[in-house]
Amino acid sequence: MIPFNRRPYLGTEDTYIQEALQGQSLAGDGPYTKDCQQWLEEEFHCNRAFLTPSCTHALEMTAILAGIEPGDEVIMPSYTFVSTANAFVLRGADIVFVDIRPDTLNINEKLIEDAITPKTKAIVPVHYAGVACEMDTIMEIAEKHKLFVIEDAAQGVKSTYHGKALGTIGHLGAYSFHETKNYTSGGEGGALLVNTNDLETRAEIIREKGTNRSQFFRGQIDKYTWVDVGSSYLPGELNAAYLYAQLKEADHINEDRLTSWKRYYELLEPLCEEGKISLPVVPESCSHNAHMFYIKTNSLEERTELIQWLKQKGIQSTFHYVPLHTSTAGEQFGRFHGVDKYTTENSDRLVRLPMYYGLTLKDIKYITTTIRSFYE
Ligand SMILES: *Cc1c(COP(=O)(O)O)cnc(C)c1O
Repeated sequence: MIPFNRRPYLGTEDTYIQEALQGQSLAGDGPYTKDCQQWLEEEFHCNRAFLTPSCTHALEMTAILAGIEPGDEVIMPSYTFVSTANAFVLRGADIVFVDIRPDTLNINEKLIEDAITPKTKAIVPVHYAGVACEMDTIMEIAEKHKLFVIEDAAQGVKSTYHGKALGTIGHLGAYSFHETKNYTSGGEGGALLVNTNDLETRAEIIREKGTNRSQFFRGQIDKYTWVDVGSSYLPGELNAAYLYAQLKEADHINEDRLTSWKRYYELLEPLCEEGKISLPVVPESCSHNAHMFYIKTNSLEERTELIQWLKQKGIQSTFHYVPLHTSTAGEQFGRFHGVDKYTTENSDRLVRLPMYYGLTLKDIKYITTTIRSFYE
């Protein structure tokens, strides 16, 4: 069976974990956490990066930092993972879903302004498949209406928009280091990127259970105390050690994935030209990280049959997301603004093919040949 995902693993992680084990403490904010955060800050040019136990947690922190209160509205696509919405629902927000663009499957920036009301507090663009949303337009709208922009860049680590790293363009950004993403901290992990000076101190406090403990450790104050709301949003050192090994080899992992992505594209292009399937679109302004390789079939029935066909031939493929506005919680906590022209229709047709670090050309050839045979 060719699996849909394999956790990225280089072999160097073991050494870093062994080294972490030699240290006195494995609690959060140790040397490996600092190394990872520094790496992220230098590589992506953000003010501050904070490792978190997941992207979900990073998003929860953004909702607190944006001052979301019950009754506030937050605009986002419906075609996304539940955490994008949950983080804000936990603060009492009402979610306003906007349709996606059929090319990138990202939020349609042209529909955002119409969804803004006096209650709107934030826009949450999700960079689907590591391909950027139209951030220039989104930032302009946000500035005009004085809204926060929080990038769900869970899938966008090492992708750029006009040369800028995803996650560093909005006021806040969130990365995922879950094992299904491009880089992992050994299963679960994430990071919060803070791109405006004024939120840095509060982010540090919220992450440390609402205390000013970090300032205490730096010798800036003589005792630490409870100063704000907060939770425990820092991962342990073993996770950071695993992640650091991967970040050091980030270019190598990225190249490997991009090579696979390009091979898929070339080998499937003829089927696309025959009108049998659609292939991903990457706008000029974006360089992407090959987080995902997906195709779109012409109908839901065809997709179900294709996934079944691939499974019979030993290939694991999958689909996602059930549009949030059609889910039980989505109906309760959100509403769809405007017409669902593309969200449900595209979500019904999308198939994700195996994509991971170390996927072989031989397997890609087998997968694409098997897709071709389905259409024959
Ligand atoms: C994976 C993902 C998340 C959640 O990441 P975790 O690290 O698993 O919490 C959130 N948003 C999007 C778009 C994702 O793909």
